[in-house]
Amino acid sequence: MISTKGSDCIDLMSESNLKKVLSTYSECISCGAVIDDPSLMKPDRLNPGKYKSECSSCRQETFRLPFPSPQFLQIFKMIDECLKLNRPILALILSCTAHEAFMENFVFRLLERKNCPPNICDSVLDSTEYRGKVKIIENLIGKRIEKFAKEIKFDEYFVKLQKIKEKRNKFIHTGVVHKKIDKKIGDYTFPEYVDLDTEDLIMAVSFAELTIHFFAKLYTAYGKWEPPEWEY
Ligand SMILES: [Zn+2]
Repeated sequence: MISTKGSDCIDLMSESNLKKVLSTYSECISCGAVIDDPSLMKPDRLNPGKYKSECSSCRQETFRLPFPSPQFLQIFKMIDECLKLNRPILALILSCTAHEAFMENFVFRLLERKNCPPNICDSVLDSTEYRGKVKIIENLIGKRIEKFAKEIKFDEYFVKLQKIKEKRNKFIHTGVVHKKIDKKIGDYTFPEYVDLDTEDLIMAVSFAELTIHFFAKLYTAYGKWEPPEWEY
């Protein structure tokens, strides 16, 4: 995770762990556990391009998938590139999108593992906004997703998301976004509105990292395939 404040982008890039986190996790196709052990991604000689090893969770010899999946890699790479560009607002928008993409994917995954046909999963996703997806998740996992975050000691995750969303929405709807800082003049403090800066850039990239860690835990907790509840 990126450490503290810094003013130089080169320093930020060398401090960013985002790229490293992108190749840390992998997912077991059998039990659904997402594990932070790169050594599990062993190329399968019989199936070029695929990975196979003994899963440290279910102890079976199973195929493994990269996590995040290749479809998500692009957005995380773009977030990392924002460090070079020094564009806090772009990083904030993209990190929010990464979270929302994971939420959508998690709904699909939950439905799929409950034997919902893919065309119905797609239809559910197409016809629900973000809030609807949050509600579907709550119904299917039996608790609010914020409660799950608290249980795994990720209390701050949704607090950070809220802060990022506020800035993103302000920018999307008005084309500008400033933040309030307390400026000291002598013994007095005055509010001042300034452009987003390195602090916001760090917040966005750190949040993107946290998103990968959070969804790894969520996917692991709710990764099991369920047997059909009825038979014909
Ligand atoms: Zn497994």
